[in-house]
Amino acid sequence: MLKNMIKIHLSLFALVFALESKPLNVLFIFTDDHAYQAISAYGSNRNKTPNIDRIAKDGMLFNRAFVTNSICAPSRAVILTGKHSHLNGQLTNGQRFDGEQQTFPKLLQNKGYQTAMIGKWHLKSDPTGFDFWQVLQGQGPYYNPPMNTAQGVKKITGYTTDVITDVTLEWLKNGRDKNKPFFVMSQHKAPHRNWQPGPKYLTKYDDVEIPEPTTLRDNYKNRLEPASTQAMTIDQHLSASDLKLKAPGNLTPEQKTKWDAAYRPKNEALEEANLEGDDLFKWKYQRYVKDYLRCIDSVDENIGRLLDYLDETGLAENTVVIYSSDQGWYLGEHGWYDKRWMYEESFRTPLIVRWPGVTQAGSKNADLVQNLDYAQTFLDICGVKSPKDMQGASIVPLLKGKKPKDWRKSLYYQYYEYPGAHSVRRHYGVRTDRYKLIHFYMLDGWELYDLKKDPNELNSLYGKKGYEKITSELKDELTRLRKLYQVPEDTRPLVRAPREPRKKKKG
Ligand code: CA
Repeated sequence: MLKNMIKIHLSLFALVFALESKPLNVLFIFTDDHAYQAISAYGSNRNKTPNIDRIAKDGMLFNRAFVTNSICAPSRAVILTGKHSHLNGQLTNGQRFDGEQQTFPKLLQNKGYQTAMIGKWHLKSDPTGFDFWQVLQGQGPYYNPPMNTAQGVKKITGYTTDVITDVTLEWLKNGRDKNKPFFVMSQHKAPHRNWQPGPKYLTKYDDVEIPEPTTLRDNYKNRLEPASTQAMTIDQHLSASDLKLKAPGNLTPEQKTKWDAAYRPKNEALEEANLEGDDLFKWKYQRYVKDYLRCIDSVDENIGRLLDYLDETGLAENTVVIYSSDQGWYLGEHGWYDKRWMYEESFRTPLIVRWPGVTQAGSKNADLVQNLDYAQTFLDICGVKSPKDMQGASIVPLLKGKKPKDWRKSLYYQYYEYPGAHSVRRHYGVRTDRYKLIHFYMLDGWELYDLKKDPNELNSLYGKKGYEKITSELKDELTRLRKLYQVPEDTRPLVRAPREPRKKKKG
């Protein structure tokens, strides 16, 4: 009896030891412009994402995950460095990322991790800190993408979302050294503009109507001028190729046949209908959102392929799977597509983490987290100490269900790309659990929102009676955050800024 018990104890000890000594792998799946409103685990009323939901079902879903600067290249630079844009140098999409600087993949490599970067990179300079990389050129096309590698350009035929997954699987199966733990970033172009669906999903949603958001016909009243002077409305700013009134120019004959079979009849019906006014607007919304959702269908299917592979090989048990996007997105809220704003839909981003044995299955977290935290979180998961100059915080305690007492109570945000695509004015601001204060600093105009009373941010309360105290508190908090993050007082010298018209002297 005693002998048997000792045996059991010894084998349990061996099992625990084996599990603990096996270093963790990380699979980071990342998309470009994926709205949390288009993920069923986030309660989408527009689509279903069964495979992203698989990650949420066994993991933790973050309901308050945000970015620091809601645009593609800057978000990627923040994730790599764990530093705000003004310190990592990537303020806008226009700059070239300085790959010489400290990034988390380099720190992982130093500790024996194998790192790989596959898919959309979008930082102009070649990736650094990766044992293997194969990336799209710039934004990259949806079909037949040429990809840059350390050995030169590879020409590939296929749908880009499938291709990125194929390359990721090939590296996992045959490319890596199986004696070392891995950190792989599998990063999609989808569902970035201009939303070209894959061959399998070209006609999905043809027979359904996608619900409209309540703010689709926003009139931009009760806010400052920037909300009404942007160039990202579904009504006015979508191009003929955005709306698939013409086919992409880079399809193979076989792809082109499928494309035409899907869109030609629909486009002929549109011409016949001769829509105007709100009917045309409704049509544009449906076409735009359906194409966007079709791109998500391919992403979701491909995430399923990766998860299946982890399950089949037994890698799932010691691989942390993380799903996120470079920012959120407008699926018609405020009448918009695109991102950039500190308003919720683009400021927030999806974040779902599955860590076997650590994250409570199906759990949801409402703490304020930011893409600024990703680098330190990745290092923490992999048992690597974070350098002191990173500006975020590891969310590993949150993943373990143990929120630190001093967890942040506010977030800092800053957007720089003006003048630029879509004409969104530069702004910075602070968000707490309940309030948001935004400073359009080149106009010196402020907006204040009570997110509890006005979750859609339609009514700025700045300067209104009764809000003096909260405004002053938020301004103090903003000053504190700008000091904490070492934000320069005036960032205009850092980027090529527009010349302000000179004020005429009086008299
Ligand atoms: Ca993006």
